[in-house]
Amino acid sequence: MTDDASDIAERKMQFLFALRSKGVTDMRVLTAMEKVDRGPFIRGYFAARAYEDMPLPIACGQTISQPSVVGLMSQALQVTPRDKVLEVGTGSGYQAAILSHLARRVYTVDRHKRLVTEASEIFRDLDLTNITAVTADGSFGLPDQAPFDRILVTAAAEDPPGPLLAQLKIGGIMVLPVGQSDTVQSLIRVTRTETGLDYDELRPVRFVPLVEGLGRDG
Ligand code: SAH
Repeated sequence: MTDDASDIAERKMQFLFALRSKGVTDMRVLTAMEKVDRGPFIRGYFAARAYEDMPLPIACGQTISQPSVVGLMSQALQVTPRDKVLEVGTGSGYQAAILSHLARRVYTVDRHKRLVTEASEIFRDLDLTNITAVTADGSFGLPDQAPFDRILVTAAAEDPPGPLLAQLKIGGIMVLPVGQSDTVQSLIRVTRTETGLDYDELRPVRFVPLVEGLGRDG
């Protein structure tokens, strides 16, 4: 192996080791995360730190989540290859790219048009043809494509938004951070049963807030 190739192999091993040591054990999720290089999703100054298990800044004042949190959320969502998934909060597109390897179809929405445009370019470059990225206020879900088997929200709301709960199929699962402040949030899982909704609290997390309306860039 050339030095470059062995550096990349070493970095990948460390990346996967960090995921496992933080509790990402689902083989389908680990395989998906091995396939998706985080590098292209981070531009500029922080690009060099793409392989660290750290959240990093992206355009529009947003953040790409920590890889282990992406792994834990993907695992908690229990995605199957038949699922149609909605992600609210496209950001860099990294989480959507992981979901595209786990699901049949992925819709991802962000209130910032610039993020949707940039993420769509990466999906095209990577040939991830089962993802559709849309500029919209995701707190209303995506009524045209509803209902969904799985919904993942990657920005924190005070409570699970009603329209998202309404767009979840029976047997469907939604994973989202909830909390009243920027600092104290819990990752929860909501399952729609025949008779109602079941809630599980998973772990403390810290996400940017879910904001109403479109970004200033449309
Ligand atoms: N999943 C992303 C990280 C998301 S950061 C990744 O893998 O990189 C949270 C994102 O939620 C931001 O891009 C922010 O613009 C978006 N967001 C916040 N409120 C929103 C809303 N109401 N509708 C859609 N997107 C929203």
